[in-house]
Amino acid sequence: MSQPPIYYFDNNATTRVAPEVVDAMMPFLREQWGNPSSTYAFGRQVGEAVDRARGQVAALINVEPREVIFTSCGTESNNSAIHSALVTQPEKRHVLTTAVEHSANTKFCALLQKRGYAVTFLPVAADGTLDLELLERSILPDTAIVSVMWANNETGVLFPVREAAAICHRKGVLFHTDAVQTPGKLKIDVRELDADCLSLSAHKLHAPKGVGLLYVKRRVKYQPLIVGGGQERGRRGGTENVANIVAFGRAAELAIASLDDENTRVRALRDKLENGILTGIPGTSRNGAQEPRLPNTSNIAFEGVEAEGILMLLDQAGICASSGSACTTGSLDPSHVLTAMGCSVARARSSIRFSLGIYNTEAEVDYVMQYLPGIIAKLRASAPVG
Ligand SMILES: *Cc1c(COP(=O)(O)O)cnc(C)c1O
Repeated sequence: MSQPPIYYFDNNATTRVAPEVVDAMMPFLREQWGNPSSTYAFGRQVGEAVDRARGQVAALINVEPREVIFTSCGTESNNSAIHSALVTQPEKRHVLTTAVEHSANTKFCALLQKRGYAVTFLPVAADGTLDLELLERSILPDTAIVSVMWANNETGVLFPVREAAAICHRKGVLFHTDAVQTPGKLKIDVRELDADCLSLSAHKLHAPKGVGLLYVKRRVKYQPLIVGGGQERGRRGGTENVANIVAFGRAAELAIASLDDENTRVRALRDKLENGILTGIPGTSRNGAQEPRLPNTSNIAFEGVEAEGILMLLDQAGICASSGSACTTGSLDPSHVLTAMGCSVARARSSIRFSLGIYNTEAEVDYVMQYLPGIIAKLRASAPVG
């Protein structure tokens, strides 16, 4: 059965596994399936492949390989960073984060509140930006960790994480950043950034789902969330997901190589789509600051139209886009990111995110612009809201 063509504009939800990445991982499913912890050569060779991948991902973010812990996903990395900060500093009971983090952070923080910890969710401005003075004032004597994402997955808005890290270190507080949306789009230099912990997820950079990493700076105390065997030098129990880790390593190399394409060609395609919508379809406006922003993301409100209806008609034309985060669609709740930016519930429910990637072409953007104005006009005519 051959699938009809899809026009994929949802790269912040997940990405196509690059063919080069599939090639790199296949030997570890077909032939080299040993346990990397085994002492015989058939296992040791697999362990060496894991170490090569550790070097590749370390190079992507400019850290030492030993500072990288492989995890099962970005969610586990975020949970682990915050968990470790609390258990290694039991006298500190406060976590400082923002209201617009991914649910991999906010839901874990909400659970911590139920367990008796204090959590501050910093508000953001109407354009999604963060006030660093407010961040500084909100650090308490018992703040264990500050967790601020680098790039917002819904709006693409970038936070000044380098400055945030510097504030935290002046006050002697650990700093974690969820950088899941940045590989291939921004240059990641963790040494320069000076974060204590940083999360990535492989499926956002053209590798498979089910593997992520947590960087933990050397000499920062760490306690694992997942406890079992001595894998990852005792920092993450569980037999390594070898094929996916090898894939992650290869994808990290490709992400470095695609930085230029994302910031020139992909950015131009995003701008063509965004400007086409804003100038060609009445009653539209962007959610979030224009800059600094990821080069691939555009979040647009379509006045008086439900996002759900737009997505359904786009889907009928083979176009994949999303409202808010893929992890919360299906729920009736409006995006917590857009509501934190002060959007009305109606506006949040009328907003669509387009997120492009290296496989998008200009013809695909033209295809979207061929359908979208008609879709919006049709929905406005059939179900006038407000
Ligand atoms: C996708 C995403 C995550 C979650 O990563 P998973 O590997 O799917 O658990 C966390 N943070 C951000 C910003 C994301 O976009």
